[in-house]
Amino acid sequence: PVDRRPEIQEARLKLPVLAEEQVIMEAVKENDCVVLCGETGSGKTTQVPQFLYEAGYASAGGMIGVTEPRRVAAVSMSHRVANEMNLSTGVVSYQIRYEGNVTKDTAIKFMTDGVLLKEIQKDFLLQKYSVIIIDEAHERSLYTDILIGLLSRIVALRNKKGLPMKLLIMSATLRVEDFTENKKLFRTPPPVIKVEARQFPVTVHFNKRTPMEDYVAEAFRKTCKIHRMLPPGGILVFLTGQAEVNYVCRRLRKAFPYRPNNIQHTAAEDTSEELRKFKKQKLKKSVSLPRIDLDNYSALPVDEGDEDRQAGIDDDDEGSDLDLGDQPDDTGEKADPTIPLYVLPLYSLLAPEQQARVFRPPPPGARLCVVATNVAETSLTIPAIKYVVDCGRVKKRFYDRVTGVSSFKVNWTSQASANQRAGRAGRTEAGHCYRLYSSAVFSDFSQFSEAEITRRPVDDLVLQMKDLNIEKVVNFPFPTPPSSEALVSAEQLLISLGALEEPPRQGRMVDMERARLSCPITPLGRAMAAFPVAPRYAKMLALGCQQGCMPYIITVVAAMTVREIFVELDRPASSEEESSKLAGRKARFSQMKRLWAGQGQSLLLGDLMVMLGAVGACEFAGCTPNFCEENGLRYKAMLEIRRLRGQLTNAVNSVCSDAGVCVDNKMAPPTESQVVCLRQIVLAGLGDHLARRVQAEELLDPKWRNGYKTPLLDEPVFIHPSSALHKELPEFVVYQEIMETTKMYMRGVCAVQAD
Ligand code: ADP
Ligand code: MG
Repeated sequence: PVDRRPEIQEARLKLPVLAEEQVIMEAVKENDCVVLCGETGSGKTTQVPQFLYEAGYASAGGMIGVTEPRRVAAVSMSHRVANEMNLSTGVVSYQIRYEGNVTKDTAIKFMTDGVLLKEIQKDFLLQKYSVIIIDEAHERSLYTDILIGLLSRIVALRNKKGLPMKLLIMSATLRVEDFTENKKLFRTPPPVIKVEARQFPVTVHFNKRTPMEDYVAEAFRKTCKIHRMLPPGGILVFLTGQAEVNYVCRRLRKAFPYRPNNIQHTAAEDTSEELRKFKKQKLKKSVSLPRIDLDNYSALPVDEGDEDRQAGIDDDDEGSDLDLGDQPDDTGEKADPTIPLYVLPLYSLLAPEQQARVFRPPPPGARLCVVATNVAETSLTIPAIKYVVDCGRVKKRFYDRVTGVSSFKVNWTSQASANQRAGRAGRTEAGHCYRLYSSAVFSDFSQFSEAEITRRPVDDLVLQMKDLNIEKVVNFPFPTPPSSEALVSAEQLLISLGALEEPPRQGRMVDMERARLSCPITPLGRAMAAFPVAPRYAKMLALGCQQGCMPYIITVVAAMTVREIFVELDRPASSEEESSKLAGRKARFSQMKRLWAGQGQSLLLGDLMVMLGAVGACEFAGCTPNFCEENGLRYKAMLEIRRLRGQLTNAVNSVCSDAGVCVDNKMAPPTESQVVCLRQIVLAGLGDHLARRVQAEELLDPKWRNGYKTPLLDEPVFIHPSSALHKELPEFVVYQEIMETTKMYMRGVCAVQAD
């Protein structure tokens, strides 16, 4: 018996998924696994756990578990469901990597997919749960894919043991064949239930031109125009990252200062004035709003290139090229303070209270404008959005097969996600989507986003699976399997790190290949699997208990896993005065780096010593924004390192109960013999990232001057001028990654003693 408030009850009845409650619950009763598809906003995430709760799935002692690929969704959905059901957060709870509010009374538990994977390691049968919902399965996140593979087996095992468990896979798209048609995964295909959502027509407007660099400025301009010229209705802007989101929010707030006092009276008149203008324009050019079926519409709108004007928005305003600096540059966007715009950011790392603001109605008379990353694409539904501005890009982790290191890059999104984004505009009434790219560019987008598992190295994943005693990873029922090269190179790396047992050396080639793909995990591998970092770094942590090196290794690993800890001063100066100031700062930063690098043995630790010195000095000074500013450190990176150090310290203590390490803010620099030990430990982790300086007698081609040779590359790689070892040029070095800019540069370089 759930006691919902009347207004909640009323809102629920409008959700399409409610009409299917009977069908869904019957399917769940009859089948071990059910797939549920429904447009974003149809009520899957908030309602289905409630159906299961009301049907008694949480009353027999087991919990209802819901996994989300994003922390944002896990936290905010648990709050929403608790609120809808009038239950406390001790009953409807969440667990994410760093925090949670689960109690012994928890009946519905929202968690990230990574959290459930860790729980499977502790109890393979997941006996705490009576049902698991895998939400947002269409995102094809790595852990979600693995979980589906594992759960297909766990459900069967639970049935065998007479402790039945149910599995529900929920997707916002109809593209679920990878789950349903995969015989390795489910011998009998699970039933697919489709929820028909009410979708109002969304008119898609393409830009005639596609801004390549300044799409952020373009998003700002377009939003301003929508706000100034179009009738009421919320605006949702899609950008790629937190920095862009904050930047556009700042600019919008500046252009349309939000003054709570003068809203009510003026706003109404103003909007009606705007509306008149809009209607006049509409009359001039008769507007047709084509119906668009968002699951399946051909890309080209009625009259390519002219649509912007149809909706009363002129396209070009090329004049003002805005950059990401902070100069006041509002040319052409004169502030009109009489129209209030209520601007809110939305991205993963935003505090939950701030995230929750997007669900509340804006102040009366004001127009809501949410500037978001793609968290707003499917996981969160913002009410009353009528206009979507889509930059067409997405920031994703990329993996370089040569260096084995990942990086974040902004790239075009897929047609499927662009259509998801457009769909956000048609939830409550007919809407418009402004794409900041041409229809020709759109038709070049790939149709769907690739599953994450095919785009990244799988060494961490293989280690986790081996830790679950899945020896033959090739045979695992992946919804989409990783390439066999990726699997082979992952096992190779893990064997070389000592995490897996060496395969037997004799036998036919084919048998050896096969043996190499089914090596069991070693005790060292088990210890490594317990650390929340990639296997190379986990190896360093596993070896860190020598000569009191652990606090240093933890710090170095934390610093290596956080990107861009030093401020780059490469922007051009606008005046002579500024240029001399910049030069002064640059000199100071290099001086600090030299100081942190030290002399003798510690200098040989190279860039890692600089990181260690930087973190040590920064923590000693209390990790203030001021200290970072003065010494060329990125404050946010330093905070992230601090958090990771705490986390890794806890992990080390729980793996090795007599390690007894703690986070020391006044850590003394390592002694000479500790530095030698640190270098050996780093070498053990980065051993396959070895490079050798080209000898004078080998210098046939001048391009190899000061170059290094690596086993995998035919081209020389170099030590970057900003490296502590740039002048030293040791004979052998190990490096963290290779970045290609003007040349191929090694980063995170450490010298190896050739003895
Ligand atoms: P789906 O999972 O199918 O995308 P949801 O269950 O997330 O759908 O959302 C259903 C409805 O609940 C949406 O219309 C959304 O606006 C509303 N909703 C979700 N979370 C909140 C919240 N925190 N406050 C107000 N409304 C919310
Ligand atoms: Mg959802």
